[in-house]
Amino acid sequence: MSFELPKLPYAYDALEPHIDARTMEIHHSKHHAGYTNNLNAAIANTDLDGKCIGEILAGVSKQSSAIRNNGGGYYNHDLFWKLMSPDGGGKPSGELQKAINDTFGSFEQFKEKFSKAAATRFGSGWAWLVKLSDGSLKVCSTPNQDNPLMDDAEVKGTPILGLDVWEHAYYLKFQNRRPDYISEFFEVVNWEEASRRFQD
Ligand code: MN
Repeated sequence: MSFELPKLPYAYDALEPHIDARTMEIHHSKHHAGYTNNLNAAIANTDLDGKCIGEILAGVSKQSSAIRNNGGGYYNHDLFWKLMSPDGGGKPSGELQKAINDTFGSFEQFKEKFSKAAATRFGSGWAWLVKLSDGSLKVCSTPNQDNPLMDDAEVKGTPILGLDVWEHAYYLKFQNRRPDYISEFFEVVNWEEASRRFQD
């Protein structure tokens, strides 16, 4: 059994003008497809073949860098597509809104902290809003395709929101202006999906 490239839940141009169609097409059909194919090649004929991605990531410290990088890449992008929507943007509501206000003071303060984590991640990586095992929230970032589900992550927990800050995620439209990309991301965040993940 092998992993399949998940379908995008909307068209390549659905997030225009915030995230451009060409970037979405290459990001999904080339980069995400590459991680998926390379993950399948790395686990073929090993005892990981048939395990779910959560199980693989939870024991990734004992695996090869190919499994770490491509397993992370497979999972992170699947999550990333779901966390954006043409109907997104605005602010969270309900329990997630309350938890964000309790932890960070306000949505604006959360946004500032998350944006800073994304902007200051040196090189390639991700920014995260994570739900820790005690139910509290934390903002962090990880290098490469690492994520908070990995057993050796600095901040471990459930990713509620994730932002890809690899140059392949923004360079065609924004070139070196990563902060502009980060602010456009907030125009398409699927807060309903983030809330669902928080409440699960
Ligand atoms: Mn990416």
